[in-house]
Amino acid sequence: MNLHVPQPIVSVRDLSVHFHSASKIISAVNGVSLTVARGESVALIGESGSGKSVTLRSLMRLHPEKTTAIKGRIEIDGADVMTMSSSTLSAFRGSVTSMIFQEPLLAFDPVYTVGEQIIESVRRHCRLSRKDARAVALEALRSVRIPSPEQRLEAYPHEMSGGMRQRAMIALALACKPRLLLADEPTTALDATVQIQILLLLRELQREMGLSIIFVTHDIGAAVEIADRVAVMYGGRIVEEAPLATLLANPCHPYTVALLSSRPEGGLSKGSRLETIPGSPPDLSRLPEGCAFAARCKYASEACKKSFPGRVAVSPEHYVSCHRFPESA
Ligand code: SF4
Repeated sequence: MNLHVPQPIVSVRDLSVHFHSASKIISAVNGVSLTVARGESVALIGESGSGKSVTLRSLMRLHPEKTTAIKGRIEIDGADVMTMSSSTLSAFRGSVTSMIFQEPLLAFDPVYTVGEQIIESVRRHCRLSRKDARAVALEALRSVRIPSPEQRLEAYPHEMSGGMRQRAMIALALACKPRLLLADEPTTALDATVQIQILLLLRELQREMGLSIIFVTHDIGAAVEIADRVAVMYGGRIVEEAPLATLLANPCHPYTVALLSSRPEGGLSKGSRLETIPGSPPDLSRLPEGCAFAARCKYASEACKKSFPGRVAVSPEHYVSCHRFPESA
């Protein structure tokens, strides 16, 4: 029997990203391994400084080469990203994988119209004539449900509302029909109602286009709307990984439990207090030898301070790194 197992679109192995400055080394990502299947949506969640955005940007090699040391293996759609020349990398960005950010003004140049910028991007990445690129840009604006797309082609970024700019940025990112979308907190700066509209739009586009998505967020509520699978990050490592429903029903890492308990949707009744996670995230220039969560963890033991826990399978698709599992679950 010939069982064909499709290759994952993303395969990251033992990724480390360290930033060097004159006085210190920031160990932002420390041995991350992650796969994303074709058509799958994976959320990386954690507090600021957990390494999620640094991991995401590494997939497109967006960090300054002079001050960044990256180790490990990154394969996207079968291509080795770490060894790509700058010209291959430039073609790869936008055509195979594309990125959207928290602030769309970072993606757009204020002195050109939105249409001009999408058309230029399409001409460069899809190698089309100006006339054909304009048609693709218009179609991209339609696909993200922007009203009056012909008029929006002629608008400058500052003439759009925050939600519309976010839609325009998604149109820019998806115009050349990449197979992988990297989304770095794309809804964080938006009002709650616009946030949900953008999340639903991304979910619809994912299904329509068969897109794979890696979605970075500190908001587990956003992850619930978009993710098939969740990887929880702390101190530059993945500490728990599971399908969304499994993670919500059976969180096993004390940090995941704390994150879930600190959201208002987590079963808060009138008059009860919202849980918070005591202490603050670790200093990435002075990470401890053992578990980085030890200073904030009520289960911490001497073993936790001495070595980082290995990855344990809770069930076939559910993994956790905690010395005190299953007691901590
Ligand atoms: Fe807490 Fe120890 Fe588990 Fe880290 S390894 S989360 S300190 S119990």
